[in-house]
Amino acid sequence: MHDPALTLRGAVHSDLRQCSSERCRCRSGELHGPYTYLSVYGDGRSRTVYVPQALAAVTSEHVEATRRGEALMAEISQVNLELLRRRALR
Ligand SMILES: [Zn+2]
Repeated sequence: MHDPALTLRGAVHSDLRQCSSERCRCRSGELHGPYTYLSVYGDGRSRTVYVPQALAAVTSEHVEATRRGEALMAEISQVNLELLRRRALR
């Protein structure tokens, strides 16, 4: 099973941003970034969390490992459902 301490559910994405300074170069299209964000859905709402550059790679790894772990659990659940239908669940 996937290590609970490494579990991180969400979607990692990168985005370019415009800052609040009126005279910044980003106002003429030279946007800042790319910055990394993690979008997380839970408790009926979604949140987007900024991911510092130094943590971007490890965050992506944890999200991907969590996705694979959940896909595996879904697969195992399907097998167990089939076993239950055949009354062979142990
Ligand atoms: Zn700017």
